[in-house]
Formats: sequence, C-alpha cells, structure tokens
Amino acid sequence: MRVAIAELKQESNTFVPRPTTLADFAAWHLWHGADLVSGLRDTNTEIAGFLDVLEPAGIESVPILATFAMSGGKVVTAAYHALLDDLLAGVREHGPYDGVLLALHGAMVSDEDDDPDGAIIAAVRAAIGADTPLVVTMDLHANVTRRAGEHADAIVGFRTSPHIDLRETGQRGAGVMVRMLRDGVRPAMAMVKIPMVVPASTHMHHLPGPFQRLMQAAAAAEGGSLLSASVFTVQPWLDITEMGFATVAVSDGDVTLAEQVALELANLAWAERDAFMETELVPIAEAIARAGTIDGPVVLSDLADGTGAGSPGDATAVIAALLAAELRDRALVCVRDPGAARTAIAAGIGAEVALEVGGKLDNVYNEPVPIRGTVTFAGPARFRFSGEGYTGVEMDMGDCAVIEAGQVSLLILGNAVMTVDPAMYRAVGLEPNDAGIVVVKSHIQFRAGYGDVARAIILLDSPGMSSDRLESLPFVRIERPLFPFDRAFEFVPHPVSRRAADAPA
Ligand SMILES: [Zn+2]
Repeated sequence: MRVAIAELKQESNTFVPRPTTLADFAAWHLWHGADLVSGLRDTNTEIAGFLDVLEPAGIESVPILATFAMSGGKVVTAAYHALLDDLLAGVREHGPYDGVLLALHGAMVSDEDDDPDGAIIAAVRAAIGADTPLVVTMDLHANVTRRAGEHADAIVGFRTSPHIDLRETGQRGAGVMVRMLRDGVRPAMAMVKIPMVVPASTHMHHLPGPFQRLMQAAAAAEGGSLLSASVFTVQPWLDITEMGFATVAVSDGDVTLAEQVALELANLAWAERDAFMETELVPIAEAIARAGTIDGPVVLSDLADGTGAGSPGDATAVIAALLAAELRDRALVCVRDPGAARTAIAAGIGAEVALEVGGKLDNVYNEPVPIRGTVTFAGPARFRFSGEGYTGVEMDMGDCAVIEAGQVSLLILGNAVMTVDPAMYRAVGLEPNDAGIVVVKSHIQFRAGYGDVARAIILLDSPGMSSDRLESLPFVRIERPLFPFDRAFEFVPHPVSRRAADAPA
C-alpha cells in the first residue's frame, strides 16, 4: 500500500500589509521527495508523525511536497497557485495511491481567497477521486470551513497550545488513515461552526481554564467508535467571512455519533466564551517596573507584535520603553530590521553606532526608534529549537547584529523568526538566564521554550497587528453576530456532516 504525504502551511494575519511570497516559503523550507523525509523525520512535525505510523504498518509513504512560511500577511495569489500546482503535479506524477495525508495550517488566506486550505483539500480530492482516503491535519488555530469539511474524510487538529503535539497530531491523522486502509473503516465526519473568536493568549493547555477544559473534553470523547475529536479555537486576526471556532468529530461511520460529539463540544465552547476573555494585559512601563521587583529572568511578551501571529516583528514601543527606563539588570529585546542590521554589520564589532530601528513594516501602530550603542555581534545567525515546540527545526535569523546600549541588549534580526526559544538569543551570545528581562514576541508558544527559564511572565498591553485587544483592530468583513464584538445573541449549533465513499476504487 502507498500513501502520499505532503505539508503546505502558512498562517495569515489579514491586518498585516506585507504580503507573504514564494520566497517566504523557500526561506523556511520547500522540499520535495526524499529531501522532505530527511529534513523532517527527526523533528516535532506532522510529517514525522505520519512516518512514525505508516512505516511500522508496512505502508509505503510517498513524499510529495513539504513547505512552510513564517506567519504573515495574506499569501500572494501567484505564490499560492504555484505551490498548489506543485502539490497537484506531484500528486499526479507519483500516483496511484491508497490514501493521501495532508498537513495544513488551516488559517491561510490569499489575496483572492479567504479559504485556500479548503481549496487545496478540494483540489487534491478532485485529483485523487472520491474513493481514495484523504485525511488532513490542522493547527488548532485553523479557521475550518464547510468547504474543507466537504472534501476531507477526516480532519484532525492539535490539542496543545503552546503547540508541542505536532508529531502526535500527525500520528493521530495517520492512525485514522491506517484504520481506513487496514480495517475498511469509512469515517463519518461532523463539523459545527461557532460564531466566536477569543484572545489567543488564553489558549493554554497547561493551566486550568477554558482551553484546557475543552481539550480534555475532546480527548475524553475519543475512543471506540469515535476516531477523532478536535476543537479549533481559531486565531482571531482574520477579517474574513465564515470566521470562528469549529468542532470536528470523526467516527467509524456512525453519522449520529459524530454529530452528537461535535454538538456537545460546540455547546461547551460557547459556554466558555466569557472565560476565554479573561486575560491580563499590563501597560509596558508598569510591566518593566514590576519586573524590576522580581529576581529574573522575567519574560515580557510583546504579543501584539507576535511573529507567530503574523505580525512583522518590528514593533518598537517596548524597545523605547526599555531605553527610557532605569534598569537594574540586563534586558534582552529583539527587532526585525535587515537594513539596520546591515548598517551595524558594516560598522563592525566594537563600533559605536547611532541607528533608527524598526517601525517600518508596522508603521501603523509603531514608529522607528533611535538607539545609540556598541556593536557586540555582527553576522549571519541561526538556531535550532531546543524546547518542546518545533523541536529540532532550524530557523535562519538572517544577517543579525547586537547593539549594547546601557542595560539594553538589542538583537536586530535580518529575518522574521519565531522568537519563542531561548536558543535565538544564545545564537548571538546573549544568555537569557543571566538577564533581568527577556522580551519575546509571542502569545503562547514561548511558554514551551521558556518554561525552564522564566521566573515570571507578563503579557504586555502593547500596540500592534496581533493585539489581543480585538476591538482595537479594524474588522470589517467578518459576518455578524460574532462574539466578542456582539454579546447579546443566541447561538443554535448546526452540524454539517459527510461520510466517506463506501468502497475504495
Ligand atoms: Zn497555532
């Protein structure tokens, strides 16, 4: 038996003007065939999870395409079509298959389509025919659409935030595939769309709260005839139609059971909507003062410029506040600014420089900030994720510089990177454990990498394109009513379901 495996992932933030291009995919990875197996086999990714299950089951995996771009603005239509054509050409060239496993993010948006992920699933379905099993894994921040649900036999989502179960989710998806191929299971899948979005900083599986309760309920529902239960809590920075939470349940053919579980989870999610709004965002100056009273390192999260949430990573409000503050201990902070990095590199290590950094891509909520200091690092840098999230995956930071200005160590990044792992600062000679303050640009994911480092965590009420103050963002296209923009309305859940084709080709 042969199963095609592929990954095509990007998480869009429609408030970010800088578009995502083909170069942004190539900058992370864009692999075909054996390269994608060797590149991802030993990582915490869905592809690795697919291999974990298919190989011992004696099923040949046929690697087609694996590509991932940093979260960012909408994907340029031509880039999206180039990648989709690449995927479809590979699928056609190497077939026929007994099944296809696809790893998507689920929250990609292109210039012309609010739902490229649904379009990808529909196109792959058209290419392989109605009878070939198609199982899809998605990030729990996916905006799952009816189109996605119409064309996949099963959609399986992450359970953890910070995301540490990518590989496990791949295994769960491949497990459904194996049930279909070995046991002849024809899954029934039910989906319920829920008119709510919530701040991403309350998506936490490791602390008691609404997210943990929902994920535990989904996990508890699985077993026996229920092959998979997922709650998609969707990232909130998508100003598109058909937006909101979704629950998806997959059974071994029992439509009633799938619908019942999807409905139960949807009602549970709706009942938790107010609990999801309880997040404490602290004004920047107050947070810096509070950090000064705690033995560090204190992690300050500039989540409104969260690069994992698509923000550019060049917000400056926190840098300006740190430069203005009287700091007892060292503060590590970062900004994306390839031009400023080049200037510092040209000046060289040991040089005194005066630069204006950041505020170029996010020139809506932030502006460039002047800094004067000494260059202590200059050149290319990369790091490998060492924490539980994205373990083993490598990030190219581009040409970077570090400027020391008083107690502030500013890392100027050449590329947009996930700032969630202490390995990023270590790659340029800065040790988070020795600092009083460490700034990350992340809502949740940093909790995986900084679990052993942070003595305290403070979420900042900073301005930016991935703010958790959702009412501060210019939503126009979302369909109303949608919680929390509308509060006084009744939600009547409706399951949409499908059953896999009865006989394989
Ligand atoms: Zn996510």
